[in-house]
Amino acid sequence: MDILSIREDFISGKVDLISFYTDVIKRIEDKKDLNIFLDFSKEKIMERVEFLNNKLKNKEKLGSLFGVSVSVKDNILVKGYKNTCGSKILENYYPIFNATIIDRLLEEDAVILGKVNMDEFAMGGSGETSYFGATKNPLDESLIPGGSSSGSASSVSADLAMISLGSDTGGSVRNPASFCACVGYKPTYGMISRYGVVSMASSLDQVGILSNDVKSILPVLNAIGGFDKMDVVTMRDAVDIKEDSDFSLKGIKIATVSNIESYEIDDIVLNDYKKAIENLKNQGAIIEEVDFKYIKHSTNVYNVIMSSEVSSNMSRFDGIRYGYRTENYDSTRELFTNTRSEGFGEEVQRRIAMGTFYLASSNNQALYKKGLEVRDLISKEVNKVLSEYDFILTPTTTCLPSKIGAEKDNALKSYAGDTFNVPVNFAGLPAISIPLNLKKICGSVQFIGKRFDDERLLNLAMNFERGL
Ligand code: GLN
Repeated sequence: MDILSIREDFISGKVDLISFYTDVIKRIEDKKDLNIFLDFSKEKIMERVEFLNNKLKNKEKLGSLFGVSVSVKDNILVKGYKNTCGSKILENYYPIFNATIIDRLLEEDAVILGKVNMDEFAMGGSGETSYFGATKNPLDESLIPGGSSSGSASSVSADLAMISLGSDTGGSVRNPASFCACVGYKPTYGMISRYGVVSMASSLDQVGILSNDVKSILPVLNAIGGFDKMDVVTMRDAVDIKEDSDFSLKGIKIATVSNIESYEIDDIVLNDYKKAIENLKNQGAIIEEVDFKYIKHSTNVYNVIMSSEVSSNMSRFDGIRYGYRTENYDSTRELFTNTRSEGFGEEVQRRIAMGTFYLASSNNQALYKKGLEVRDLISKEVNKVLSEYDFILTPTTTCLPSKIGAEKDNALKSYAGDTFNVPVNFAGLPAISIPLNLKKICGSVQFIGKRFDDERLLNLAMNFERGL
């Protein structure tokens, strides 16, 4: 059921808002072992639901997301809730304002369920780098849920939240959506405001939406997307994405990846990719294999660009401005060093170190500059293909979720999984991940669209989903 139908049921009285949320709270409490919620309050939820219920009773005008439940990744600021970014350094940090997108959700009468677990500062692809412990995959609790938006995907897949907001720098919405077999959408760069979203790598970061079906994404995007004077990179207009009932896959040109076997892809993922291709062909789409020369290098380049931006963004956590401060210092230098050594986890420290190295002036920033050049090559290659085709279809991740703990020390493997995700962020394109089998461990595929062609991308995705 999509969220607009649920909204209708609340309004018509078919489903009682109060009992629905009493039940949601119980389910969240029953599922505590999944380690999804980092900050959650029954009282706050019920206070909100009572407020909405009164609006309904008083026949007031109701918002477009009336009664829709949303879980929020813990790097998106929500007043009244801690914002930890999954890190010790922000363990007790309470923001003083809402992210723009949170204000917009609230204006449309959504219900915020709470803040959800994530890889520390969104650095990771498994949900295991959080200071607060790994999130579990609701489809099989021995498995990782993917990351870095681990709690977002788990909360949607476990039916605790209808919608979740995550962030995607190099696949962090699509990767966990694929591991938890739900839908994950990353919009065109600039479509959704990032004001009040903690930065990781600013030239790549975008907020994304997770749900159990494609249709539910539209009203959420329409509510939170579009111009924000507080974020200079947002598009100038409001967002108004419509469902096109005439949309057909017939004649739509889709590029697929040639020689896909050479990418070290898990057999099940590969099979599901081929199934998706067959399915699209049967519905009349024109599918052609395209030789991508540079995508193989995407995660290496990503490492350079992302770490460089990370090392600069992380400098604001110094023990003085906000967050954790060490007790162990005699000088300002020691205050900085010890706060950061004690406050950041291993993965974050590794990336700061790498980024500082890539940006080193002693080396004339050689690696960073080379990285920018190759980023440009990859972006141009993808955009060129999109000038000849309507969409590109790739597997979302190259692998299936591993056992929790099994690959924890293998940071490189986690990067490799996002080979097809990262080029999308390089070029600022929209993409959506769809599982071949909703809520079953399976391969997911990713459709990539042209810049600001999000409406057609979502319509294509709805058609594809219907045909599964
Ligand atoms: N898994 C990737 C990384 O660790 C992507 C992270 C993200 O998109 N935030 O960098």
